[in-house]
Amino acid sequence: METAACSWCTKHRPLWRVHRLASNQVICDYCLEWHYRALDFLGGAPPAGCQVCEKSWQLLSDSTPGAVVRLYVVPKDGYLQLMCAACVAPYLPKQKQLYKGTRFGAEALKTS
Ligand SMILES: [Zn+2]
Ligand SMILES: [Zn+2]
Repeated sequence: METAACSWCTKHRPLWRVHRLASNQVICDYCLEWHYRALDFLGGAPPAGCQVCEKSWQLLSDSTPGAVVRLYVVPKDGYLQLMCAACVAPYLPKQKQLYKGTRFGAEALKTS
């Protein structure tokens, strides 16, 4: 079966699950769905969970009793990714540089 690598999650997906963008990048249905979930979250909806480790919001809160669970919205090439603190860690140094002094930076890293 022919597959294409998603430019966002880097996973190989069958062609019917991916969209080729004008930029010639490929995004899979999974990443697209999470992009909309991240948008809902920024719009004030309860977070869906982490798209990288696939833990639900409920699971994340239950596994860290007493602690404030944070989810992070990480934009990548125009699409948003929703990640837990553990999964976002490798991205943060890069993102901080990217957002330095921008209003979006403060919003992108807003807590739940
Ligand atoms: Zn993907
Ligand atoms: Zn995670």
